[in-house]
Amino acid sequence: MISYKEAQKLITKAAQGRVLQTEAIPVSEISNRICAEDIIAPLSIQPFDNSAMDGFAVLRSDLTHASPENPITLTKIGVVAAGDPETTTPLTTGTCVQIMTGAPTPPKAEAVVPIELVEANENEITFFALPKQNDNIRFTGEDFKKGDIIYKAGCKLQTTHILPLATLGVATVTVFKKPRAAFLATGLELVDDLSAPLSSGQIYNSNRPYSVAILEKLGVEIVSAQTIHDDLDAFASALASLEKENLDFIISSGAVSAGEFDFVAKQLEKIGAEIIYHKVKIKPGKPTLLAKLPNGTLYFGLPGNPVATAVGLRFFVEPAIRTMMGIMPEKPIHAKTMHKFTKRAGLHMFLKGQFESWEDGSLTVDILDGQASFMVSPFLNMTMWVDIPEDISELKAGDMVDLYPLLP
Ligand code: AMP
Ligand code: MG
Repeated sequence: MISYKEAQKLITKAAQGRVLQTEAIPVSEISNRICAEDIIAPLSIQPFDNSAMDGFAVLRSDLTHASPENPITLTKIGVVAAGDPETTTPLTTGTCVQIMTGAPTPPKAEAVVPIELVEANENEITFFALPKQNDNIRFTGEDFKKGDIIYKAGCKLQTTHILPLATLGVATVTVFKKPRAAFLATGLELVDDLSAPLSSGQIYNSNRPYSVAILEKLGVEIVSAQTIHDDLDAFASALASLEKENLDFIISSGAVSAGEFDFVAKQLEKIGAEIIYHKVKIKPGKPTLLAKLPNGTLYFGLPGNPVATAVGLRFFVEPAIRTMMGIMPEKPIHAKTMHKFTKRAGLHMFLKGQFESWEDGSLTVDILDGQASFMVSPFLNMTMWVDIPEDISELKAGDMVDLYPLLP
């Protein structure tokens, strides 16, 4: 049996062999995709000096002595609207130019005085104060400078990124293609139809809808989701047809322990797959397995207990997807545990926790009751996985722990 750390290294190595291809997608569709190339600012933003207010562009030297007691009047020599081209005629002494928000400022303009602060009489504009240098002018390149790297490959693109990218005229972004995968639930006891009544000995197949939903959230394209009723022939033929699909990975739940019907490892060996590990010192999910099919598809055999499957998706499959897209390793969140907790040293544990942030700025986690690997009721309240390393056997209230959100 290997440690969690060793398993992580083996996952990374296996996934490095299946780095995903890239594709260009419209900027409007980038949410939650992973940037595959550094994005360079194709122009400067603002693209030209312009006014931040509706008002009058002035030379400060004209208004040095302006005050409410000593108003100064300048002659308006023009009007520029947003959308007008940049003028080349500079402001001259004694004049001002009426300017709208977003309109290019005339050369030499030193400030824009808002319209609310002047008195206008036809083309005679009266000022009552000296504006500060550059007041209400937005300068070329204040937001972005042409040629700057504005986003790095390997980072997740969010909906918020659409605004700066569209501002820069970035029409398409190169992202990693979604990994293609299949999910197989195994178990004779499983009922897929959640509206059908259960017969004696049956349970609903909860892993399947949960896993498919989580995988989709992780950006995976689910090519096939099936249920195998612990029938070896059905499993063998499902595996054979999935192998032809050349998937990035296959995930199964159940049938990897030591039970009589735990056929996953045996069948994988039979078809010549390389078993990379089988059994990791973790809880829940110890019998977890990673294999590589002869065609290179990775195979994650997750134990069937729903929490073990959930842990497998979050801490074994997700890091593999991360590696396939060149995403940096994940950093945990740190918080203090609210209660003491004892565990067996020698097993790395993943616990269901509820995260809280307090008014004084402190962060805590409540390790919820019901940590057994079959118990899903805490999923109604859990917001974080609490990650407890192998060597720790006891946590006192107030000890710092590492947390990982349900999805990265
Ligand atoms: P296994 O890993 O196949 O030995 O299954 C371990 C436990 O998880 C058993 O109690 C199974 O009934 C349960 N289980 C397996 N697969 C599922 C599933 N898809 N949905 C809900 N429970 C499952
Ligand atoms: Mg089973």
